Amino acid sequence: MNRWLGHSTSHLPLESTIAPEEHMPRLNLQPQAPRGRIKRHGLVEEVYNLIRADIMSLRIPPDSRILVDNLVRELGVSQTPIREALSMLEGVGLVSKKHFAGYYTAPTLNRKQFDELYEIRLLIEPAGAGYAAQRMTDAELADLVQHAAARAPGVTRADTALFADQDAEFHSRLAAASGNSLIAEALGRLHTHMHIFRLRFQREIATEAAGEHALLVQALQQRDAEAAAAAMRAHIEKSYNRLVQFTIG
Ligand SMILES: [Zn+2]
Repeated sequence: MNRWLGHSTSHLPLESTIAPEEHMPRLNLQPQAPRGRIKRHGLVEEVYNLIRADIMSLRIPPDSRILVDNLVRELGVSQTPIREALSMLEGVGLVSKKHFAGYYTAPTLNRKQFDELYEIRLLIEPAGAGYAAQRMTDAELADLVQHAAARAPGVTRADTALFADQDAEFHSRLAAASGNSLIAEALGRLHTHMHIFRLRFQREIATEAAGEHALLVQALQQRDAEAAAAAMRAHIEKSYNRLVQFTIG
């Protein structure tokens, strides 16, 4: 039982791909650190990132109660930054606050939600990639190429959040480069990566996705809108096939 939690209704095979002895890097703060040495904003952000990484890596399983007091002990900070961080996590759909029952992690996507997410991605993202191939500036393209090349997925639980961030960043940059702000906003509202990366993380998934991104980047470099749209469609369809087996219900 995760020591942060009251109970868990999750029956995911949490440790099947993840060694139980692996631990997330913890907050690098002394519990008795003098107040005021860390700027308040920075502290909330650090707490946010830690809790988020723990949710993304399933260290805190889906649909589980989050006990604020346990976080206070674990992170050595007061309730205030933790509550602020939890509100921010509520804003991105990873946490929900239940009346009189406190904070819970969001449940894993069920099959219907997963299908809906991929349907909308297939409507928006290939179109966005096609527009980006035609409209993105050379500087935006160079940035994207560099970003795609920098990804180096690791094997630990901590890498889940990191790879999710890299993938989210790749997709959101590309959507922004479409030159259609509504495409970028619509994609942003889906919080795709928060949800799909909690289904499963395996090194192979990250590696395959990186190869698919490379094909996409190639099409963008050739300024080939049709090929870019097709590469994005293929990437999303393959992602669907990799992950659909891990949805429940
Ligand atoms: Zn991707």
